Amino acid sequence: MSLTYHIVTFGCQMNSYDSELMEGILAAKGWSRAAAEEEADVLLYNTCVVRDHAEQRALARLAQLKTLKAARPGMILGVTGCMAQKEAERLRERLPHVDLVLGTRAIARLSPLLDRILATGEPQSCVEILDESYPADAVPLRQRPLKALINIIFGCNNNCAYCIVPRTRGREISRPVEAILAEARQLVEHGTREITLVGQNVNSYRFAPGGAPRFGALLRQVGAAAGEAWIRYVTSHPRDCNDEHIAAVAECANVCENFHLPVQAGSSAVLRRMRRGYTREHYLKLIERVRAAIPDATLTTDLIVGFPGETDEDYEQTLDLVRQVRFDQAFMYLYSPRPGTPAAEEFKDQVPLAVKKERLSRLIDVQERISLEVNRAMIGRTLMALVEDVAPRTPGDLLARTRGDKMVILPGPAAWIGQRREVRIAEANGHTLFA
Ligand code: SAM
Ligand code: SF4
Repeated sequence: MSLTYHIVTFGCQMNSYDSELMEGILAAKGWSRAAAEEEADVLLYNTCVVRDHAEQRALARLAQLKTLKAARPGMILGVTGCMAQKEAERLRERLPHVDLVLGTRAIARLSPLLDRILATGEPQSCVEILDESYPADAVPLRQRPLKALINIIFGCNNNCAYCIVPRTRGREISRPVEAILAEARQLVEHGTREITLVGQNVNSYRFAPGGAPRFGALLRQVGAAAGEAWIRYVTSHPRDCNDEHIAAVAECANVCENFHLPVQAGSSAVLRRMRRGYTREHYLKLIERVRAAIPDATLTTDLIVGFPGETDEDYEQTLDLVRQVRFDQAFMYLYSPRPGTPAAEEFKDQVPLAVKKERLSRLIDVQERISLEVNRAMIGRTLMALVEDVAPRTPGDLLARTRGDKMVILPGPAAWIGQRREVRIAEANGHTLFA
């Protein structure tokens, strides 16, 4: 039976990779992608629960799909990703029109469970943590082979007090290096110019279970296997960013000089309660080491404001750290209490929403000014950038990305898409360079 599918993806790059993998599994069944949700025989929602907002959005949409299900009784509706893993029971109770609940480490079961639904009409679920999260022969079906993701590590062994991810993605397992290198080689053969290695904590990559983290060594091997393709990676943890990692970035010609090191907060007291495993001083020294080894490296981060017990002084230390480091960009969030995490269940002194909002808005102002200054300082410089697409807002222009992961708009013909060009920066705002 040849069916059509559509996958809607929320959340982080792990989910993006998993969606491409599920597409690959469905395409291998001879099924094809439906352009719109409403037309699909099989509709999958790959969900995120890292913050309440993401969870509510997915829940609201899934509830609405009851009407579509009623109009198209044969359609199969599935929930995958972190909400499926965390809320399997509740989903089955509250959304009985959902046919499939598939956990984050059970993608290997996607095809047989869909076959069983088709054969029996009965809902199915699997939220087991399987040893082989992915089927050994699955090949992701990528939307845009020019830039590709490769998952290198599943799960997370940290227990940051605010974070639900260890509960939704399970204990950490590194993917065998042979599988990673084979995927990298195969991509490059098919024209990929940029590979991003993804995982919740990539720099805890281990070649063998129980071995020492050797992310730097992995970067060198992927760098060698990927020929001319550029290599990026997300997310690395500041505690696990060691000299081997920094040296690999400095020395591998094709590894991009961009460090995304989520600091979360600028106060050591808050970092301790967050259980991040480093202090403010350690983080600042790490940034110094990165800049000493790679003066041109771009630095980006994640920040949370309003963690329980965050005082005005703690918050001022976050502002101070941001001013001191001068990140190129930052992803800034209001702390969102996640049921089941220590910060939500055990920490009494939650910060009022109005205070959190005020702190976030001031932090965004400070960081945006810095991003603008850092980008303006690039005016006049010549940089190498990969041309990715036509520019979304200015027809006739192209969209490219520098090695430091900055977006550049430049004039040029569509024939340049997929090529690397030297671009001279003429203008800049806080988010984009213009060449
Ligand atoms: N593993 C990565 C790390 O430790 O840096 C981050 C993964 S997490 C999916 C992405 C970002 O979401 C985190 O860096 C953090 O800033 C943010 N985040 C996670 N839990 C949060 C929460 N409960 N409220 C607000 N932001 C949160
Ligand atoms: Fe969450 Fe911390 Fe693991 Fe990142 S390292 S996924 S923030 S528990």
